[in-house]
Amino acid sequence: MRKKQFKTESQKLLDMMINSIYTHKEIFLRELISNASDAVDKLYFKSLTDSSVSLSKNDYAIWIKADKAARTLTISDNGIGMTEAELENNLGTIAKSGSFDFKRDNGSSEGVDIIGQFGVGFYSAFMVASKIKVASKPYGADEAFLWESEGASGYTIEKCDKASFGTEITLYIKEDTEEEKYSEFLEEYRIRGLIKKYSDYIRYPIKMEVENEKLKAGSTDEYETVTEIETLNSMIPLWKKSASEVTAEEYAAFYRDKFYDFEKPLRTITQKSEGTATYSALMFIPSRAPFNYYTKDYEKGLELYSSGVMIMEKCSDLLPDYFGFVKGLVDSSDLSLNISREMLQHDRQLKIMAKAIEKKIKSELEKMLESDRENYEKFFDAFGIQLKFGLYADYGMHKDVLVDLVLFKSSEGKYVSLKEYVSNMKDGQNCIYYASGETEAKIAMLPQVEAVKSRGYEVLYLTDDVDEFALKMLGKYDDKEFKSVTAEALDLATDDEKKKIDEANSGASDMLSVMKEAIGKVSAVKFSANLTNHPVCLSSEGELSVEMEKVLRRMPGAEGAPEAKVVLEINHSHKITEKLFKLYAEDKETLKKYAKILYFEACLISGLSLDDPAEFATLVSELMI
Ligand code: ADP
Repeated sequence: MRKKQFKTESQKLLDMMINSIYTHKEIFLRELISNASDAVDKLYFKSLTDSSVSLSKNDYAIWIKADKAARTLTISDNGIGMTEAELENNLGTIAKSGSFDFKRDNGSSEGVDIIGQFGVGFYSAFMVASKIKVASKPYGADEAFLWESEGASGYTIEKCDKASFGTEITLYIKEDTEEEKYSEFLEEYRIRGLIKKYSDYIRYPIKMEVENEKLKAGSTDEYETVTEIETLNSMIPLWKKSASEVTAEEYAAFYRDKFYDFEKPLRTITQKSEGTATYSALMFIPSRAPFNYYTKDYEKGLELYSSGVMIMEKCSDLLPDYFGFVKGLVDSSDLSLNISREMLQHDRQLKIMAKAIEKKIKSELEKMLESDRENYEKFFDAFGIQLKFGLYADYGMHKDVLVDLVLFKSSEGKYVSLKEYVSNMKDGQNCIYYASGETEAKIAMLPQVEAVKSRGYEVLYLTDDVDEFALKMLGKYDDKEFKSVTAEALDLATDDEKKKIDEANSGASDMLSVMKEAIGKVSAVKFSANLTNHPVCLSSEGELSVEMEKVLRRMPGAEGAPEAKVVLEINHSHKITEKLFKLYAEDKETLKKYAKILYFEACLISGLSLDDPAEFATLVSELMI
């Protein structure tokens, strides 16, 4: 029989596993039991619609057998089984899981994260076994096949005898070494412990042959060793227990196991509801975004169970997009087991549940924001941008749900919510100031930010593309308007100052229009009272800011995107003003050059690239000579 090679990628992962990069070797048992449970689920599910499957729910089980003499551990199930082709496809390659795509994209050679994140399932058994045999017979088939492998060298598949349907996996446990006592995985106490720890909620009995000391029949003091079959798991799903019966560690272990994360969740949310909809929900907020979260490959959704039996892996209708990061499950007795996907979408019960779940997530996030700030900020770092997209999406339809959950960095050097911003507002301040830019550091350097801060006002620092669009969608918060510090209508000045500036502008209108013509790219050149130390800045007239224009320009099909109307503002109390007047009187050509240099300077301060850097360099050099 020809030995087949694993696909290259599987080979690499196998090497990694065998060299035990992953320290938690014990998880192999959880992985194999979960696979067995999935296989039983599949057959059970089939039995609901296929009358040829004649098993009752109580017949399904998973068996564990440890044979110390032979150093084998056997895990068998009476689930759906695998055909020859399935053995080949499922166990001959793991490329389909996508783990290696991730590794490549990430350029990382760290195995731990990948394994933790995906749970490589079956292959983890090679951490403890030197050889694995998988005998499998699909339900209803006549033939059984045996897959056998000693790890990286490849595998064989051949026909075998197997009386009953299902799958039997035999692990040939490695010899003990200095560091690792593999033998312990053959010990009953160790197996018991692992099943309690990882697989207690598995819905089918996990049975093991155990040896118990029992009083001999008719005797009061004589014992004998009897072999008995014992069920090791409690089978009560975690979500059916009341939250007070379950420890935080148990919830965390359940989360990690089920959702392939190696970090514990930031928050666990439990909800039980009776009345218009009867269900229990167990949900988690992950502590970081899955690597594909912000791609179209990410599928949101909660697992959906009907009275303890899973009917859908990802029910996306249960979660709005903006809470798509939530992981978890919902178990309801209101749903029929064989409801189809299409019917589900229109199911009234499901809609009621979705509404209640959304409300619950919102209130949990609010609680977290109030009483667990550190974790909330961690959450916001991972998923905040999703909430901001939610504000903007569907023409602002969901803003009431989300507006008090978003945070922005501010000139105070920390995150603030809009509520906090408003409660910190100074007497006489009547709007919410914000500034957009690439980074907080660059925003902090904007002349206008300096000017607004110097009046004691806080400024929101917007660094995500979506931010300014989201604020525009909100319009106002608590009746306070949002105002960009780079808007021409910034209006920080007192009435007196304004009067002075208006006079200065009308008095110098001819000079200012000479400068405007020379620059060519601005809609106006004006004196301003909004600046403190800097000589110039750029502002924008109307709704579209320079930053928004930048975002729009980056989008596909940007050719027709509207342009922001840019105004060059000159600090009237800066020395440069005197110089400009002097040049206007004596040397108009030099005035034009100054106008251009000032415009270029303002662009640089605003974080814009120069249309013509060479011209800027020439002009500056001319002045220097
Ligand atoms: P995953 O479980 O993440 O898909 P595994 O490597 O653990 O990855 O398993 C690969 C596939 O092999 C499973 O998806 C399943 O189709 C099949 N499989 C594994 N164990 C069993 C089993 N006990 N019975 C039937 N099929 C199984």
